[in-house]
Amino acid sequence: MTMKPLPLRFVLFLLLVCNAVFQIGVLGSTNSEEFDFFFFVQQWPGSYCDTKNHCCYPKSGKPAADFGIHGLWPNYNDGSYPSNCNPENSFDKSEISDLLSNLEKGWPTLACPSGDGVKFWTHEWEKHGTCSESQLDLHGYFETALTLKKKANLLQTLKDAGIKPDYEFYDMESIKEAIKGGIGHEVGIQCNHGTSGNSQLFQVFICVDKSGTEFVECPKMPRGRCASKVQFPSF
Ligand code: AMP
Repeated sequence: MTMKPLPLRFVLFLLLVCNAVFQIGVLGSTNSEEFDFFFFVQQWPGSYCDTKNHCCYPKSGKPAADFGIHGLWPNYNDGSYPSNCNPENSFDKSEISDLLSNLEKGWPTLACPSGDGVKFWTHEWEKHGTCSESQLDLHGYFETALTLKKKANLLQTLKDAGIKPDYEFYDMESIKEAIKGGIGHEVGIQCNHGTSGNSQLFQVFICVDKSGTEFVECPKMPRGRCASKVQFPSF
C-alpha cells in the first residue's frame, strides 16, 4: 500500500502545534523551578543599626520601633532558593501606589545613604519576588508581605512573654518558645554582632505556604549563629 503525501495545510498545522508545545516546554523550564515555600523574613531595626556599618533612617524619618520586613523569599525544601527569575518583570512603583505608605512603615529601608525605600523594594522584588510570579504578581507580593507582618505581630508576641527591646539578654530558647506560641510553628532566628561584640536578635524567619497565606512548619531552618543568650537592643 502506498502512503499519500500529507496535505500541505495539515503539515503546516502540525508544525504550528509542535512549535507551541516546544515553546510551552521552554518557557516552563525558565520559570520552572517551582518553589516549595516562602521564608518571610523580618528584622529588628535596633540590631540592623547597632553594627559597625551603622544605618540611615529613611527620608520619611525614623521608623517605628517595630520589626520591619526584610523580604518574602521563595525557597526549595532542600534549603536552596531561586533568584532573579524574570528580568522582564521589573519593579513598577505605580502598580503599588496604594501600598506605599504602609510599605514605608512596615518595610523601611535602613541602608545608607537615606532613601525612600524604592531601591530596597526593587532589590527584593527582582531577586526574590519574580521567583514567586506563579503565585503572586507585583502588587500581590507586597500586599501579602504586609498582611503576613500584621498576622505575625512579632513584637507584641515577644512583649507578652516579657521579652522587650531593652538591651537585656534573653535565652534563645525562651525567644523561640514565645514566637512559636504566637505563630503556631517553630521559626528560624538569625543573630548579628553589635558594636560591643554581643550576639543580638536580628532576623526572624517564618515559613509560609507557597500561596502566601498560612504559616507552616519550616522544611529547612536557616543557619542562625546565635549565642545561647542574645541581646535585644532598643531602637
Ligand atoms: P537579600 O539579597 O534579599 O538577601 O538581602 C540582602 C540585602 O538587603 C543586602 O544588600 C542588605 O544590605 C539589604 N538590606 C537588608 N535589610 C535592609 C534594610 N532594612 N534596608 C535596606 N537594605 C537592607
